[in-house]
Amino acid sequence: LTVLGIESSCDDTSAAVVRRGSDGRGAILSNVVFGQADLHAGFGGVVPEIAARAHAERLDHCAEAALSRADVTLGGIDAIAVTAGPGLIGGVMAGVMFAKGLAAATLRPLIGVNHLAGHALTPRLTDGVGFPYLMLLASGGHCQFLLVEAADRFRRLGGTIDDAPGEAFDKVAKLLGLGQPGGPPVEEAARRGDPARFALPRPLLDRPGCDLSFSGLKTAVLRARDGALVDGALPAQARDDLCASFQRAVSETLAEKSRRALAEVAHLSPSCFAVAGGVAANTELREALGDVAGAVPMLAPPLALCTDNAAMIAWAGIERWDLGHRDGMDLGARPRWPLDSEAAPLIGSGR
Ligand code: ATP
Ligand code: FE
Repeated sequence: LTVLGIESSCDDTSAAVVRRGSDGRGAILSNVVFGQADLHAGFGGVVPEIAARAHAERLDHCAEAALSRADVTLGGIDAIAVTAGPGLIGGVMAGVMFAKGLAAATLRPLIGVNHLAGHALTPRLTDGVGFPYLMLLASGGHCQFLLVEAADRFRRLGGTIDDAPGEAFDKVAKLLGLGQPGGPPVEEAARRGDPARFALPRPLLDRPGCDLSFSGLKTAVLRARDGALVDGALPAQARDDLCASFQRAVSETLAEKSRRALAEVAHLSPSCFAVAGGVAANTELREALGDVAGAVPMLAPPLALCTDNAAMIAWAGIERWDLGHRDGMDLGARPRWPLDSEAAPLIGSGR
């Protein structure tokens, strides 16, 4: 089974060809990503209208490149999988309309994929892990714990009630005069800093459950920065110490909530604890999560497959195909699409 995947829900235009072999494992034949960072650079964030227009202009070329790199013709594709939400609606619509056109022209089935399901099923593409498993998705736009029970069954154990952690790294970088995206420069500065210098909050640790909050932490960083100014400027050492203190607060909070999520699903013997999303690139965080995972193997797919890409959409399409899901020309684009909308309460968790 060979599937063409299309992704356009945020600021990456991506097309990929994934083939599932007789052993059941997926092989990525191509995974082309056209980033748009340059188009949004001057605006302090992704501009939905610019993103949608760029997707519409580039999808064609992107899909062509994916087919040619995979050395597959359109006739060799068995189905077309496309992100149908959640995301910026203009971009999602551009992708869905493009996929519909291809499906109509080639008479191949169309499979609508939830973008978050794409992220959540990636460990099955990269490592062939079995169900169920626990997943922490920590990116620029999302933060949630998911129990992945089947390719179409996800239980959300908790998540952020405000900002995503990547968003917090980006805002902290901005407050401290570091570049964007903020994760890498904050991590770099933190290496030279003292994580104990600033006492920053560990949000929601005093409350039971796996919910998280990052917006208060950002405000605490702002206050600490203002308190550390010398003649109106922030000394380099204070900036580095603040980065280290912030990174420690994020890592400790995510690690503690991960410990709780793991405890909640322990009776189901999860096959692994997988982390994905751009924030999972953070070394201190990875180490902290590895420590709490204990006997459950921790797994972090390669970064290129953790951030937005169409290979994960093609693979999720293959998994949905196996379950008999097919979509027609009435497939819609959904700005919001919770993964666990059809799930029943988790049995035996004591929650
Ligand atoms: P989503 O996929 O949820 O729509 P997104 O595309 O913005 O959101 P990703 O591409 O998965 O998210 O991740 C980008 C985020 O990861 C940015 O906020 C960035 O600051 C953060 N990030 C990248 N590298 C690191 C790092 N080393 N440490 C911490 N954060 C990082
Ligand atoms: Fe994403």
